Amino acid sequence: MSATVGGWVAEGGGGIGSYEYGRISQNLESITFVTPEGEIKTLQGEDMDLVTDAEGITGMIVEVTVKTRPLGQDIPLVASFPGTKQVLQAFYQINQMQISLWHLSFANGGFTNKQKEAEIAAAKIKPHWGEPEMQDNDTSAITEGIKKK
Ligand SMILES: Cc1cc2nc3c(=O)[nH]c(=O)nc-3n(C[C@H](O)[C@H](O)[C@H](O)COP(=O)(O)OP(=O)(O)OC[C@H]3O[C@@H](n4cnc5c(N)ncnc54)[C@H](O)[C@@H]3O)c2cc1C
Repeated sequence: MSATVGGWVAEGGGGIGSYEYGRISQNLESITFVTPEGEIKTLQGEDMDLVTDAEGITGMIVEVTVKTRPLGQDIPLVASFPGTKQVLQAFYQINQMQISLWHLSFANGGFTNKQKEAEIAAAKIKPHWGEPEMQDNDTSAITEGIKKK
């Protein structure tokens, strides 16, 4: 699965990092786009609302300048919990303590299994770009890939 930067801006995307930094529109310095009349315009500040979340109806986004932050500040942390109740309690406490998190997500066993199934199914229908074609019952490449993650 993939998305383009232009598509993300046009859809007002949010995701990893949004917990701390908000949606894409809050993380842009400028957007350059081509209007339906063929004019090239660059917008900044609130004017960018004309383009973000507009699904491309105001023009084709051709360049964006995104805000960045220094590398190396993150401490990745993984935790497991005996059940959903304990996960929700942990989320609640994190929120109460106002811990500055870049991203927070959780997955249960069912979700993870479905994700694996989806990756395997996607690999079977994707073009192979020169790699050996995958056989119906050969999922070893994918499971290896998942293990490495
Ligand atoms: C399973 C799944 C999970 C998703 N999860 C998230 C998520 O976590 N967060 C999230 O924000 N979204 C999510 N989405 C929605 C979608 O992936 C995003 O909106 C994505 O960023 C769209 O990007 P794209 O490049 O695929 O755009 P497309 O799907 O190709 O286009 C989306 C819209 O943007 C317009 N557009 C695309 N490129 C440009 C451009 N350069 N200039 C102007 N308009 C343009 C198109 O005309 C269209 O209206 C999810 C979608 C799916 C199917």
